[in-house]
Amino acid sequence: MSLFTFDDMKKIKRDKLGADVPLELFRSVRLIGMYQGLPMKGKNTTITVGREIGKSMPVQSIEDALHIFEELKIGIPRIVKKTENEMHIAIEDCFCDGLPIIEGNMVCDLEGAILEGAISTIYEGNISIREVKCNVNGDEHCEYIIRIS
Ligand SMILES: [Zn+2]
Repeated sequence: MSLFTFDDMKKIKRDKLGADVPLELFRSVRLIGMYQGLPMKGKNTTITVGREIGKSMPVQSIEDALHIFEELKIGIPRIVKKTENEMHIAIEDCFCDGLPIIEGNMVCDLEGAILEGAISTIYEGNISIREVKCNVNGDEHCEYIIRIS
């Protein structure tokens, strides 16, 4: 049994400050706290955290998962290539857009793991997601490859 569900997260009762927190807070948790603050750039943690969040989401299709991703303002996902067992998803307006470029760094792994977790609830087989491009790395956008096997 989960203590919290994704639906619980939407139960917000803050009269003065409302439902939003600034992007710099999310970035600080993600990049200063996790990417920079955890061993191995937080790799194991971000995968676990992302998948858990994704699995908690009510998703019936890949489109649902992409829709929630945009609704949460992580970024605007677009399928740029699709084969039988592989999908390339480019992210426009990713939360990392505008950060200084630091080559060799791809910072949106947790967000990819959210997608992976969400999509894993609708497929029998193995889902794996890999971040192949990132604004922070100097790429033209962030991009994931999802493999379904
Ligand atoms: Zn990104």
